[in-house]
Amino acid sequence: MALKTGIVKGDIFLKHIPGDGCPDTPQRLKSIYSMLNDSDMQDIFVDVLPKKAEEEDILLLHSREYFEKIAETKGKELIAFTADTHACEDTFDAALYAAGGFLKAISQVVEKKLDNAFALIRPPGHHAEKSRAMGYCLFNHVALGAIFAQKILKLDRILIVDWDIHHGNGTQHAFERDPNVLFFSIHQAGLFPGTGIFTETGLGAGEGYTINLPIPKGYGDAEYTSIFECVLAPVAERFAPELILVSAGFDTHKDDPMGGMLMTAPGFAGITASIKKIADKICGGKIVMSLEGGYNSDALSGAVKAVLKEMAGITCCDVSAMAEKANKKKVDYVVRRYIEVHKYLWDFF
Ligand SMILES: [Zn+2]
Repeated sequence: MALKTGIVKGDIFLKHIPGDGCPDTPQRLKSIYSMLNDSDMQDIFVDVLPKKAEEEDILLLHSREYFEKIAETKGKELIAFTADTHACEDTFDAALYAAGGFLKAISQVVEKKLDNAFALIRPPGHHAEKSRAMGYCLFNHVALGAIFAQKILKLDRILIVDWDIHHGNGTQHAFERDPNVLFFSIHQAGLFPGTGIFTETGLGAGEGYTINLPIPKGYGDAEYTSIFECVLAPVAERFAPELILVSAGFDTHKDDPMGGMLMTAPGFAGITASIKKIADKICGGKIVMSLEGGYNSDALSGAVKAVLKEMAGITCCDVSAMAEKANKKKVDYVVRRYIEVHKYLWDFF
C-alpha cells in the first residue's frame, strides 16, 4: 500500500557553505534533490515546506549563550567553531530552517497528516552538544525533535536510531539520563568523535536506555540488516516507543570516503524495512528521519532513494532473506558483546 511520505527540502539548505575542503558540501543535497526528479520518484512524496525554528525551539536543548553564539554568525564571512565546523553568512538561517523543518515533519507524522517523513537538510546535527558545535553540526535536530515530541506533543517514549558511521555523541549526551528516550547507535569503532563504546549504557535512571554497537569496518548490507533484526527489534518492542526518529547517515556506504563499511543502496532499504516493521507493529508506522552524513554524492542519492522508496511502500525489502546472507561470525561478535553488557539491564535475555 502506498504511504504518505513527507519530504523536507529547500534551497536554503544549499546556502550553508562551510568552507573549502569541508566534505559537507551543498552538492550532497543537490544530488539528492535532482534524484527526486527521476521519473520513478514523481508524484509520490508530500513536500513539507521548511519552517524557521524559533529561538524557544532551539532552547529545548541548547543553551541561550550557545544559540546567541551561532546567531552572531549571521551575515558574516566564514567563522570557525572547530577545525572542521564552520558557519558562513547563511548558516544560521539554514540551521534554523533545518531544525524547524524537522520539527514540522514530526508534528505532521504524530498528527497523522503523514505516515512518515524524511528531512533532507543540512547542516547535519547528531554531533552537536548542548553548548558546542562539532563534526559539521550546529543544532542537534534529532535531539531537538525528541524533546519537542516529549514536551510539546506530549509523547512519552521515543526511540532514536542512529545508523551514521560516526557515533551520535550529542544525541547520546542529551538523553543518557532519560529512560523515556532509547538511543540506539551502530557505528564504526575508533572513528570520530571517539565516544560510543559498548559499555556506555546510560546513566542513573537512564541506565540501559543507551545502546552502543561500535563495530569493526567491513560490515555490509546483510550484517547490518541482521543486527537490526536481532538486536534492535527485540529491545525496541520491549521499549514500545510512540515515535521513531532516525539519524540517517550514509557514510557507511562502500563508496563513501569516511570509513570502511560496505553498505549499498539495497542494504539501506533493508535497515529501513527492519525499522518500519518495528514501527508498524508498535507505533502506527511513525518514523521521521533526518539526514546526517554521507559524502559521496552519487552513493548518497542512490541510498536515499532506496530508503524513500521503502518508506513510501513502493518497494518492500525481504528483511529475513537479506539478514540470512550475513556473515554469522561478524553478527555474533556484535550480539555477544551487546548481551554481555546489557544482560543486567534488560530482563528479556
Ligand atoms: Zn557521519
